[in-house]
Amino acid sequence: MNVSVVLFTADLRLHDHPPLRAAGDGSRRVVPLFVRDRAVDGAGFAAPNRLAFLADCLADLDAGLRRRGGRLVLRSGDVVGQVRAVAAETDADEVHMASDVSGYAHHREDRLRRALEAEGRRLHVHDTVTTVVPPGTVTPSSSDHFAVFTPYFRQWCRQPLRAPLAAPRAVRVPDGVGSEELPSRTELTGLSAGLVRGGETEGRRRLAAWLRSGIRAYEDRHDDLAGDATSRLSPHLHFGTLSPVECVHRCRAAGGAGAEAFVRQLAWRDFHHQVLAARPAAARADYRTRHDRWRSERTAAGDIAAWKAGRTGYPVVDAAMRQLSHEGWMHNRARLLTAAFLTKTLYVDWRVGARHFLDLLVDGDLANNQLNWQWAAGTGTDSRPNRVLNPVVQGRRFDPDGAYVRRWVPELAGLEGRAVHEPWKLREEERAALDYPDPIVELPEALARFRRARGRD
Ligand SMILES: Cc1cc2nc3c(=O)[nH]c(=O)nc-3n(C[C@H](O)[C@H](O)[C@H](O)COP(=O)(O)OP(=O)(O)OC[C@H]3O[C@@H](n4cnc5c(N)ncnc54)[C@H](O)[C@@H]3O)c2cc1C
Repeated sequence: MNVSVVLFTADLRLHDHPPLRAAGDGSRRVVPLFVRDRAVDGAGFAAPNRLAFLADCLADLDAGLRRRGGRLVLRSGDVVGQVRAVAAETDADEVHMASDVSGYAHHREDRLRRALEAEGRRLHVHDTVTTVVPPGTVTPSSSDHFAVFTPYFRQWCRQPLRAPLAAPRAVRVPDGVGSEELPSRTELTGLSAGLVRGGETEGRRRLAAWLRSGIRAYEDRHDDLAGDATSRLSPHLHFGTLSPVECVHRCRAAGGAGAEAFVRQLAWRDFHHQVLAARPAAARADYRTRHDRWRSERTAAGDIAAWKAGRTGYPVVDAAMRQLSHEGWMHNRARLLTAAFLTKTLYVDWRVGARHFLDLLVDGDLANNQLNWQWAAGTGTDSRPNRVLNPVVQGRRFDPDGAYVRRWVPELAGLEGRAVHEPWKLREEERAALDYPDPIVELPEALARFRRARGRD
């Protein structure tokens, strides 16, 4: 076979890349292609923070290919039209790509397969590129997917793990394939000031540093908000600059309780992916309806604005929301408590919060974001859908000395100890000097509203 096209999507790497390996083994020449998909941009997924990270990833992928004698070909427009055009220009026999889970990804795959087959070409879709265990591989006896994590995890652990693949030594691209210029993050506006750098090189450096010095303490420290002791590998897993299969191999080789706890989180990622693959509508609709009549952007505009701005008067919530806007990233515990605050304490539709997160998160991911939001709102897979998190208790528990709040809420930086989580308990004149809002809602009232709404009076 002469030419194969490799369509990169959420797998922007050279190491452990089954489509690239298969194309290289089967063909003399390979076209590494990325299509800037107008449909994805048009659906509101082109948030500046992710576009910047993507630009870094494409530049790094291109540099890695050039070191191997190749280069990245970039096109933009309709993905099916662009792949067909490149395949026709190079007379390619095959196209290789990774499988993905969203409704859009399934539709894209179907359209692509039909279009290519009509022209006598073949589409090969590879599993275990974007997840460790492909969605649908492990299922309970009575359903097409698991709705509960623990039994899923038990089976997930028993699945065979393929060996990671080395990066190709050489990539030979056919002559004369036209490419658009690669984007650069310097062209973008509206980026979070503390946004991290993307790219496979950076992802591998972070993974190595994490395995060397972070993972050991992960089990004990992952919920410590101020300690910031999680891997921060999520954008690399989202863009596929790191292979989740390779991560599991390397963690297991590192061994220990921290590595085990970390691998469990990677299984959570797979869990949400298999839910979305089986129920694509869960990206927009309740996975399990609780018949909520949520407050909306129209009826709760002031509360939503305060939540987004980090001005709710609940310090740990405000700290987290400000971290999100400054970094385009937020600690998992902080995501959970801000999402629970919006949906249960303010009783606002989870889709409002999920949209805001997707507008800012550098790791914003349809499966992980929407299904974690649904978890927090009690419309997803949480087996205790009506539990409510108290933001003061959460603050005291996961930020016991207030360091996280002081870091992100400078108005409270002068407060010590517990006062930082309950500034409304300060004396009147001390409070007045703070320039920090009073709580936008009283917790007992909020709890009563939520219980009423869920029929739990
Ligand atoms: C409301 C809400 C929204 C979220 N939105 C996203 C999102 O858009 N993208 C995203 O990648 N994660 C999301 N998460 C999951 C989790 O918060 C992040 O993956 C994690 O904070 C990323 O930081 P880390 O890489 O340091 O995580 P680590 O603790 O180091 O975990 C390692 C990896 O495991 C995976 N992981 C960890 N926790 C979860 C989880 N609860 N669900 C699924 N996968 C997990 C991630 O890929 C993560 O990078 C969300 C969680 C909540 C509660």
